Amino acid sequence: MLFFSLALAGLPARAKSESLETLSSRAAFAAAIRANSISLPAAPQPSFAPAPAKTGAGRADKNGLHAYFIDVGQGDAEYLELPNGKTALIDGGPAEVTGDPHPPDGQEIVYGNPPLAGFIAQHNIRSIDYVVLTHPHFDHYAGLDYVFTHVQVGTFYDTRERNDINIEKLRAKIANLGVNTVYPAEGDSLNWAPEVAVRVFNSCSAEGSSSDGQVLNNCSIALKVTYQNTSIFYSGDIQSDVESRLVSKYGAQLQSDVLKVGHHGSRTSSSAAFLKAVKPKTAYIEVGKDNSYGHPTQAALSRLKAAGAKVYRTDRDGTQEYDIAAAGATR
Ligand SMILES: [Zn+2]
Repeated sequence: MLFFSLALAGLPARAKSESLETLSSRAAFAAAIRANSISLPAAPQPSFAPAPAKTGAGRADKNGLHAYFIDVGQGDAEYLELPNGKTALIDGGPAEVTGDPHPPDGQEIVYGNPPLAGFIAQHNIRSIDYVVLTHPHFDHYAGLDYVFTHVQVGTFYDTRERNDINIEKLRAKIANLGVNTVYPAEGDSLNWAPEVAVRVFNSCSAEGSSSDGQVLNNCSIALKVTYQNTSIFYSGDIQSDVESRLVSKYGAQLQSDVLKVGHHGSRTSSSAAFLKAVKPKTAYIEVGKDNSYGHPTQAALSRLKAAGAKVYRTDRDGTQEYDIAAAGATR
């Protein structure tokens, strides 16, 4: 109540009573969320971010590979324009829930426009060939509801890991749209473009269910995308136990020029051994300003610095673009 009193201290009487009503319904909403133990992310950042900063080879040609690390506040979304004209989206970031966070069976949860909507509008995206959900956490899947509603999607890549009912509602919606869902397994190659190798290093392709955040993080579909001898490693939210498994099993095969840093720079990801194997020159952390998780952690930032990676953060640097030019292109 102290918070409400402070917030209303300067308002005239009529505004106070209206605001109190709004605030009390918000409080009830928040309590409902807590009671159902849904973790909603920190408030999304503004949707319409400025033009992305370029940190790669420079966009001298249309035929290369263009990788975007999108500012979606506290959450992940990465977009790829492939040399053959195909496109891929890895995760959709968070979205605000505007109605009942637990609507009755058969009713869809209602989301507001997600931070990702700004990027989709800015790039005039009407269709996406491949959409990947790394793992069923809200800060990765909620923005996908908007994507599947507004954008024509070719193939959906998912894990078979279950979490809460809301992700199952989204999965049912995607199936009802007639979009083919593929469950990639570790070791698979995804045929996105003939010139590009997309290799799956981690996934939960077998049936599973958990509400344990760490278990779900470790289910993340991790991908290495290679084009013209340049590689980008997308870690999802994998944590150090999966990282060390990958280091033992794959060693130098993990080596990548660019790293999408695991789990928003959490201290339980980006272990020294993993970074030693990946050897990233450039690292992107997707994270919200002043998030309640303390991401990115100093521990992860220090390890990235010690590994020699130049670090970009979406909370400070906004949406980032990394370009790999086609062979023979003029730079
Ligand atoms: Zn996450």
